[in-house]
Amino acid sequence: PSDLSDVIGEYAQGGASDVQAAVSAAAAAFPAWSTSGIQARSDALDKIGTEILARKAELGELLAREEGKTLPEAIGEVGRAGQIFKFFAGECLRLSGETVPSVRPGIAVEITREPIGVVGLITPWNFPIAIPAWKIAPALAFGNCVVLKPADLVPGSAWALADIIHRSGIPAGVFNLVMGPGRVIGEALVNHADVAAISFTGSVGVGRGIAAACVASGKKVQLEMGGKNPQIVLDDADLAQAVELSAQSGFYSTGQRCTASSRLIVTDKIYPAFIEALQERMARIKVGDARAAGTDMGPVVSQAQLEQDLSYVEIAKAEGARLAAGGARVACHTGSGKQGYYMAPTLFVDTEAGMRINREEVFGPVASVIRVKDYEEALAVSNDTPFGLSAGIATTSLKHATHFKRHSQAGMVMVNLPTAGVDYHVPFGGRKGSSYGPREQGRYAQEFYTTVKTAYTLA
Ligand code: NDP
Repeated sequence: PSDLSDVIGEYAQGGASDVQAAVSAAAAAFPAWSTSGIQARSDALDKIGTEILARKAELGELLAREEGKTLPEAIGEVGRAGQIFKFFAGECLRLSGETVPSVRPGIAVEITREPIGVVGLITPWNFPIAIPAWKIAPALAFGNCVVLKPADLVPGSAWALADIIHRSGIPAGVFNLVMGPGRVIGEALVNHADVAAISFTGSVGVGRGIAAACVASGKKVQLEMGGKNPQIVLDDADLAQAVELSAQSGFYSTGQRCTASSRLIVTDKIYPAFIEALQERMARIKVGDARAAGTDMGPVVSQAQLEQDLSYVEIAKAEGARLAAGGARVACHTGSGKQGYYMAPTLFVDTEAGMRINREEVFGPVASVIRVKDYEEALAVSNDTPFGLSAGIATTSLKHATHFKRHSQAGMVMVNLPTAGVDYHVPFGGRKGSSYGPREQGRYAQEFYTTVKTAYTLA
């Protein structure tokens, strides 16, 4: 938060027995909910979406106050959550199957999708309303029952969302919230025999452990994890546009987005002008109270995250990277939230692709620049990463933009747009260390939240 003394509320921390009770309630509700009919499900999701949208200013205020992203960003996130529920209110009416001829005469074959059962959803703090929404909405739309374990840093946002879902008319037990530490609540959920699937968003380390546990017990699993997203800037780019989108996706939301661009890969000729213009743009980013007018960047989410961000500043310096902007904790420049963990937007130049600052996710307002000679080298460097979530290119060349869209090893590719900032009705996800399992969101969400049945009938 912007002000560490600001008490938002007091929320219960559950234990393993609460996970047991929640899973039992979800399992008991599943037979009726999974066969309840799509109109009832659609109506409930539409009602949830309508209330979220109607209250987006108030919920955005809560989110900004609790998590620390700026008020416009927070209201935008809440709006997105509302739209997601609306989208899946329609999507559950559009579920279809196939009828295909059998290779054996006189037999009919039908392929349908069915709900998978009780799903456990484990979510991070950086999008405390939108990420739960994009897991809960498809889970419910396709007839599953849910136990949500939100991040421990953001119980207020999770509680507000659960309250809206609770009043939507869905039967008791269909949706359950258990708050508390990941090591207790998350692990109990992952290890529960009656949970059929786990959808997780968070760090790579936790995600890999969850995947191993799910595979061992035969659970379906979906992971969205970190990124080290590249933003290429070619000599032929529109300089002002390239600077703006690099600043937006590098530093806005305090760099705490899995789609933030933290590696700026810039070709030789435009390099000096780009660095100068980006430094000038960064100097205009106002760091301050998340709720104050004029704030561009709120505080870092927690002391632990600030310590991680600052430790990477030291790591980069020790590796020989040159600090070109920021690099330290700063005072709050706007509003009254004086005590938060504010950090200056930070830029390193003269970095090499193999440095830790270019290989490991910082998850803060820190970007580094890698100088390359041409598009081919830029493409190779952009793909030289253990991650593959989002990748951007700034260019006026159709040839290079087209080639990049095909050859970037990322799940999402942006041409002359920031790497962060995506639509809610199309698939979201990445490759390599960034994601595992089916995509989230849009029509593709049904891959995870349904299971396929093939039925044969003798005519
Ligand atoms: P963590 O992985 O620490 O936590 C994510 C969730 O997992 C939290 O709810 C956490 O609970 C829970 N958890 C922690 N330990 C366990 C465990 N052993 N078993 C089960 N659950 C556990 O990530 P952060 O919350 O710190 O989020 C930041 C990370 O998330 C970044 O690395 C970022 O890249 C990634 N992220 C990825 C996104 C994507 O879509 N690709 C989107 C947003 C973030 P608790 O809060 O109690 O610790």
